[in-house]
Amino acid sequence: MLIDSHCHLDFGKFDGDRDGVISRAREEGIAFIINVGTSLERSKKSVELAEKHDFIYAAVGIHPHEAGKVKEDDYRILEKLAENGKVVAIGETGLDYYRNPAPKDKQKENFRRQIALAKKLRLPLIVHNREADGDTLSILKEEKAEKVKGILHCFSGSRVLAQECLELGFYISVAGQITYPNAESLREVVKDLPTDRLLVETDSPFLAPQPQRGKRNEPAFVKYVAEELARLHNLSREDICRITTLNTKYLLGIGERKEKSKIAYPIRDSLYLNITNRCTNNCTFCVRDFTDFVRGHNLKMEQEPAAEEIIQALGNPQGYKEVVFCGYGEPLLRLDTILEVSRYLKKEGVLVRIVTNGQGNLIHGKNIVPELAGLIEAVSVSLNAENGSKYFSLCHPEFGKNTYEKVKEFVRECKKYIPRVEVTVLDMEGVDVTRCEKIAREELGVEFRLRRYNHPG
Ligand code: SF4
Repeated sequence: MLIDSHCHLDFGKFDGDRDGVISRAREEGIAFIINVGTSLERSKKSVELAEKHDFIYAAVGIHPHEAGKVKEDDYRILEKLAENGKVVAIGETGLDYYRNPAPKDKQKENFRRQIALAKKLRLPLIVHNREADGDTLSILKEEKAEKVKGILHCFSGSRVLAQECLELGFYISVAGQITYPNAESLREVVKDLPTDRLLVETDSPFLAPQPQRGKRNEPAFVKYVAEELARLHNLSREDICRITTLNTKYLLGIGERKEKSKIAYPIRDSLYLNITNRCTNNCTFCVRDFTDFVRGHNLKMEQEPAAEEIIQALGNPQGYKEVVFCGYGEPLLRLDTILEVSRYLKKEGVLVRIVTNGQGNLIHGKNIVPELAGLIEAVSVSLNAENGSKYFSLCHPEFGKNTYEKVKEFVRECKKYIPRVEVTVLDMEGVDVTRCEKIAREELGVEFRLRRYNHPG
């Protein structure tokens, strides 16, 4: 399932076979299409198209290319159009200094007026920016566009622009350019963006992705964008489809938005198990404080599942590289459940890994690691800091100031009983990653892995 978050099916290039294009999109598993208006006339057509098809929604707006022709009354008509129930955003609006077909002051005024309209109607914005990073950002900030948020569409800008827009609560939508051979610098930026703020689009009929380059683009081709995005983020295509679909649905308020909490959920070729949301830490960076979702899965549970429920949720685990007790909460709080499920998985011949804060022995008041021996193939322990005082200030462990040393002791115990042990650290500002790596490899004698801050899962 995918959503093409930006296309222009109202354009004349689709007049000969519009219905065929829409059918092909459905056959390719496109769940929703957002058809985006670029002028009053095209916005009307966009709304008509959305009214005709359940799975098409409309955005209405006046593109910067049209800004020189706009009349005062046009904004009143635009507002009327935007009141239609199938309209989910204001746009395409923004600034384009590349072709500069309209004077800059007219473009800026047109952009500001549409931000004001979006705020009035509480609709998100769809922003076009080409070679106008500085003014786009200034206007978004001055007009307080963070109140409605929106999409920076067809992203091809700088790292700074992306970061500042993310801070304003905006989402970044990527199009076919990321598939082009000469777009290496764009790919470098896109691969560092958090997936929970990414969308995919075609911008059809323009910008056909590489495998279809030179042809007219259409919503069915959004799959190529998703595949490249998956490759850049080292995720599966299914992961990116699920994540971007969820992002689009929540931002634009379309489709079913009551994702059930998951016990077992796949990411890449691993199956993760969510067995508790409790934890003995209270980390300043904990993902649970920001979102219920990790890689498009709802992990906020109403009650902790029993071992039988977990085993049932596993389905057939044999197709996965490993089954992982995940870290959206501390799994070793439920040691007995882990042991029971792991015995089952062992019989099934499936490798099991635990992601933990390393406080299992503190939690249970005894050395629990021998109990894991023979059942658990790998353990990933979050060390998070290069010394005890930094660990304490970052993680606020309930076991007090000596917790860091106890976590290291736990790692040493794991090394005796578990075949693969790694220490992980987030690449957060203020953490001495080099020192952490030294502690892992030289002091503790285990593997080290750097995890990316803002990229949970
Ligand atoms: S150890 Fe993990 S789950 Fe626990 S508070 Fe820290 S980040 Fe959150």
